[in-house]
Amino acid sequence: MKRVVVLGAGYAGVDAALTLHKKLKNDDVSISIIDKNDRHTLLTELHEVAGNRVDEESVKIYLNDIFKYTKVNIIQDEITSIDFEGQTLTSEKNTYAYDYLVVGCGSEPAFFGIEGMEENAFTLWSLEDAKKINKHIRTMFQLASKEQNAERRKEYLTLVVGGGGFTGIEMVGELIQWRDVLCKEYNIAKNEVRLVVVEAMDKILAVYPQNLIDKAMNYLKSNGVEVLANSPITKVTPNRLDIKDGTVVPTNTLIWTGGVKVASFVEKVGLPAAQRGRGRVEVNEYTQSTAYPNVFLVGDNSFFVEEDGKPLPLLVESAMQTGKGAGKNIANLIHNKPLEKCKPKLHGTMVSIGRKYAVAETMGMKTSGLMAMAIKHMVNIHYQFEVAGFEQVIRYLKHQFVHKRKDDNIIKKHLTTETFTFWMVIMRMYLGYMWLMQGIHKYNDGWFSKVSIYAQKVAAAADATASASTAAAEGAAEVVVQGMNLIGQNTPAWYAWMCETIIVPNAMLFQKIIVLTELGLGIAFLTGTFTFIAAIVSIGMNINFLLSTGLYDYWYIVTSIACLGGAGRAFGVDHYLMPWFMKNWRHFVRNKSIKINL
Ligand SMILES: Cc1cc2nc3c(=O)[nH]c(=O)nc-3n(C[C@H](O)[C@H](O)[C@H](O)COP(=O)(O)OP(=O)(O)OC[C@H]3O[C@@H](n4cnc5c(N)ncnc54)[C@H](O)[C@@H]3O)c2cc1C
Repeated sequence: MKRVVVLGAGYAGVDAALTLHKKLKNDDVSISIIDKNDRHTLLTELHEVAGNRVDEESVKIYLNDIFKYTKVNIIQDEITSIDFEGQTLTSEKNTYAYDYLVVGCGSEPAFFGIEGMEENAFTLWSLEDAKKINKHIRTMFQLASKEQNAERRKEYLTLVVGGGGFTGIEMVGELIQWRDVLCKEYNIAKNEVRLVVVEAMDKILAVYPQNLIDKAMNYLKSNGVEVLANSPITKVTPNRLDIKDGTVVPTNTLIWTGGVKVASFVEKVGLPAAQRGRGRVEVNEYTQSTAYPNVFLVGDNSFFVEEDGKPLPLLVESAMQTGKGAGKNIANLIHNKPLEKCKPKLHGTMVSIGRKYAVAETMGMKTSGLMAMAIKHMVNIHYQFEVAGFEQVIRYLKHQFVHKRKDDNIIKKHLTTETFTFWMVIMRMYLGYMWLMQGIHKYNDGWFSKVSIYAQKVAAAADATASASTAAAEGAAEVVVQGMNLIGQNTPAWYAWMCETIIVPNAMLFQKIIVLTELGLGIAFLTGTFTFIAAIVSIGMNINFLLSTGLYDYWYIVTSIACLGGAGRAFGVDHYLMPWFMKNWRHFVRNKSIKINL
């Protein structure tokens, strides 16, 4: 049996392992993923934890959740060395043998030898880093609130971000909103707090076009952030930092985001580093090590040069695509097929500046504000759906939009007020009872045995009813006696046309559909089964009635809307059905086969 090992469950490693499962699920091959943590960390959202927008759970996706229903074995261990000749990985306690290896251990901060930087600055490269920053900033406000000495107070209340790249700007963006909350909490005047970005280059977000940089700058300035460009930091101590031009910034808080290099573990393993790659490992067009053909380097570890001669940037998309490429090519090697060139396609980048603003350049489109925020959320949702399914998306949405934070605006405070679904049970069951009765009445009125609907413009219909005579539905096979006219006074012309040309000529079919739907809705609401879908159908049915005869029972719509919020989870079948359904859906997605997991 061939053994494939993926080292590192970051963006690249996870994609590599999922691709390996997809391609090799029916082969006699073992696939293992090794990571020092039991989770995949959403590094791109760390600033949100550091800046108190979301709690730490929101950036964790447990490996069990990702690799459920796959043949990927999860091993939690920290690898300390790799023997490429002997094909083994070693940790403090274990040795793991492999036939094929994917290395995706990511990056770490680079300090460029700046005096005191490593010792005194905070970094933002792991969940632990983000939590440390969060705790420290709160402590600074606490200390400042009790401090009488003006100089000390200034040091506490000056928060500096070193580096005006994507991560630095995202970090300071979070501080804008959190500053306001902390000021209220600790009774500190907002103008006492200094938020500063120190950037060595002449501008922030240097890879962006100038108009996006201007927008970001305007937003930062209008929110009181000072941007010091052309300002390389030369020295950092616990309570100040020095800039090359002689400026001194008194502060206890420098968050350093200004440099990145390959993880030092990868530097030490002895693979040839690319010349321009700050330790990133040389690979060919298949993401394969130039030294060992059974070893593939992915994500931040690989110095992958595109056809135009440019190296892939250190981005999530690069990581995912090199991960997929490596997975495919290992499967090709195992299946004795030729290797495929990895051809990454990058779609762009987004930078959030706090919760309320963002700038983005995606697929050649430059956006800012709400649009850019929406794109960022959509990209996050898409990624998390791919990696861990619908449940993860729900978790993301809850963390971002439902969980209450102190700085929520008035609308969100109302939107996020939680209640027990228990209170909806009676309402849900009454709605079900009413739908059931509607269906039963129609059935008893003969909707299964005779044509009971017709379509006539209102004036004619009134005559027909008044004379209690028959009204022939155009094209219908039978004659209508005291039926229901589908065209009311306010029916739009297009809907009337649909009734006349599609529904009435097929009256028996549509009558049966309506009766069965009403009975189905009744049972669904009464038992709390697939309640969300039932609520959508219920709303749809009522919109139909509204367009047709006009709506007489508005409460149906209102109650159906209320039932969208998980009304079947309390005293309903959904309580058991939904988790079961999700489980089996995930199994199907991963394996394209149905196996009932109880
Ligand atoms: C704060 C921050 C914000 C970012 N924002 C963006 C953004 O908005 N957009 C974007 O495209 N990119 C962004 N990036 C860059 C992006 O996150 C990286 O390019 C991407 O994470 C690289 O993926 P990877 O799989 O190579 O490494 P990582 O995602 O870093 O994963 C490496 C994995 O290897 C594991 N590991 C490392 N060493 C060992 C070992 N010895 N033994 C066992 N396990 C080990 C780690 O635990 C980790 O799980 C950001 C990065 C940071 C830090």
